[in-house]
Amino acid sequence: MTAAALSIDLESYWHAELLRHHIDRSQADDRLLHIVPSLLDMLAAAGVHATFFVVGEVIDRHPQLIRHIADLGHEIGCHTYSHRPLWELDATSFAAELAQFAAAVARHLPGVQPLGFRAPTFSLNPATAWALPVLAQFGYHYDSSVFPLKTPLYGVPGCPPLPYRPAPNLVDSDPTAPLWEWPMTAWRLGPVTIPVCGGFYLRALPMPIILHGLRAAQKQGPIIVYVHPWELDEDIPRLPLPWQDRLITYTNVGRPLRRRLQTLLDTFAFGRMIDVLPAQSQ
Ligand SMILES: [Zn+2]
Repeated sequence: MTAAALSIDLESYWHAELLRHHIDRSQADDRLLHIVPSLLDMLAAAGVHATFFVVGEVIDRHPQLIRHIADLGHEIGCHTYSHRPLWELDATSFAAELAQFAAAVARHLPGVQPLGFRAPTFSLNPATAWALPVLAQFGYHYDSSVFPLKTPLYGVPGCPPLPYRPAPNLVDSDPTAPLWEWPMTAWRLGPVTIPVCGGFYLRALPMPIILHGLRAAQKQGPIIVYVHPWELDEDIPRLPLPWQDRLITYTNVGRPLRRRLQTLLDTFAFGRMIDVLPAQSQ
């Protein structure tokens, strides 16, 4: 069993929560054709297959790129169709998102059956857990949308550290739950939980802390790391955001994160999430 999974949330920079209201998409290049090929080269050089949670709009915009990713043997998962967080949806509009995503897959990725889902902005919490039965109805086997601590935007403090079948409160296990949840990896030090798995934390915390935290978490069970292609982009357009949002969005994007990802690829034997999860989820 692989003890580490690498997940790529494949979205445009304008899907990011702090940017999505600041962009005129009709004018903008989403830059994915500049960034994703070099990410695929890094993974190929490391011999790593990853899980790509893809936004449906991106499948429709770049069908050949996503087909190429699937053909390389990476897992294709769902990151909704439009990247609206679950707290802006209800069960009906979420089902419509999943149907739109399924239609994009059927159009452009024949033979691909996504089994995993990640909510935009880790927006699964007890108030949005209505999404889990909807995912099961659409044939998904696992979800990976729970962040293990409260941040200003999201989080479910107290969730289990390893894959489990979640009760609606997302903290307790329920063996009858319709799918598996794999929460994001954190380094748990007594009462302190340090997110070491991706995003701003992976870019901003000192790398020895990231490595130590991931190794400590891996002693308990499999770990997940995640990155967004836009975080690897030196030339990401710099928008005039409020200073806190600018800090969270742009700290160490581009080459610094690329170097960190290379260190992680050199350190851990990453695989696809579906290959790491318990066999019942496959
Ligand atoms: Zn996302």
